[in-house]
Amino acid sequence: MGIGAPTGELFLSDVKAGPERLMGESEDGYGRSGAKSTFSTERSGVAAMALGLVERSLEMSLDYARTRVQFDQPIGSYQLIQLKLAKMEVARLNLENLVFRFIETRAAGKDMSMAEASAMKLYAAQAAMEVTTEAVQIFGGAGYMRATRVEQLMRDAKILQIYAGTDEMQIVAIARDLLGRG
Ligand SMILES: Cc1cc2nc3c(=O)[nH]c(=O)nc-3n(C[C@H](O)[C@H](O)[C@H](O)COP(=O)(O)OP(=O)(O)OC[C@H]3O[C@@H](n4cnc5c(N)ncnc54)[C@H](O)[C@@H]3O)c2cc1C
Repeated sequence: MGIGAPTGELFLSDVKAGPERLMGESEDGYGRSGAKSTFSTERSGVAAMALGLVERSLEMSLDYARTRVQFDQPIGSYQLIQLKLAKMEVARLNLENLVFRFIETRAAGKDMSMAEASAMKLYAAQAAMEVTTEAVQIFGGAGYMRATRVEQLMRDAKILQIYAGTDEMQIVAIARDLLGRG
């Protein structure tokens, strides 16, 4: 559907793996802590991808809002379109702040908590989906066409709500960590 990533099924048979290879299931907790640290890093990275999608959506939407004329006015003069652009800018700023916060945390040699990393991933994925969908809306029928490429941003954004843990699983992870049940 998007991100230009060919994804297929993988079949394994007669594979033997020791307990050190288990994720989230070993009794000594080795696998669990390893997986948690990976999740935390992976989730943080999604915010940077979301920021890129939002920046490009806003750039393209502003350009189209200035140049597409309907009913003798550029569509950017209509308040319903302005609201979409303003919300895109709010999302862009929020994502930029989240990415900078992550970079500063890492530069200080610290890790984000699971709740923080999951909250960042959840917000980033939802913001990217909302903004890219609104970008298609601003382009109208042209937005639905491959030629304008804005639909590609929307298809690319959808995976952010699914991989590295779905939106639903981020919610579970946030609540569990906050409640001390991680
Ligand atoms: C393009 C692409 C790239 C990927 N890359 C990777 C990769 O590099 N590495 C990797 O490990 N995986 C990768 N994945 C897999 C991806 O992480 C999983 O598809 C994703 O975690 C969801 O798991 P699932 O598909 O089994 O969905 P399911 O777990 O079957 O979920 C189906 C639905 O049920 C919901 N659901 C499931 N359990 C619960 C629950 N307890 N409470 C509430 N709702 C629930 C889900 O949120 C979802 O809406 C990739 C997938 C795709 C499509």
